[in-house]
Amino acid sequence: MSEVVTPEWLGAGLAFRCTGCGDCCTGAPGFVWVNAEEIAALAAALGLSPEDTERQFVRRVGVRRSLFDLHNGDCVFFDAERRNCRVYDARPAQCRTYPFWQAHTESREAWDAVRRECEGARESSPLIGVEEIRARVRENARARERL
Ligand code: SF4
Repeated sequence: MSEVVTPEWLGAGLAFRCTGCGDCCTGAPGFVWVNAEEIAALAAALGLSPEDTERQFVRRVGVRRSLFDLHNGDCVFFDAERRNCRVYDARPAQCRTYPFWQAHTESREAWDAVRRECEGARESSPLIGVEEIRARVRENARARERL
């Protein structure tokens, strides 16, 4: 696995607390990557077989797999009424580790772009330490390597 870099600029960590706004599950169409283990976890949460879960909720993107988007770009598992995730406990690593992905933490400019999009990444949010950030970046990177 590629080594996770912890850049100097992170200092003591980054301010973040999920506000549950749902913005990262909605909006413009995108990709929520899932590997076989993540599909199995979703299947267990849904009470379906992995095959049926994949048939109903997953699309192929080249050799990789991503959750379906709804017509408005929302994730197929986003509950628009409650504004939450219907499979929260079984959500994929990409969701669990957001916004601490390698691409978001490798430079101050990249993190500034996250802060413009994500209300939980305000300066007033609690500080997430470097070791925790590192663990989340690593978890997401590992999941991506198994796509
Ligand atoms: S699986 Fe859940 S947390 Fe992940 S994008 Fe979809 S609704 Fe959001």
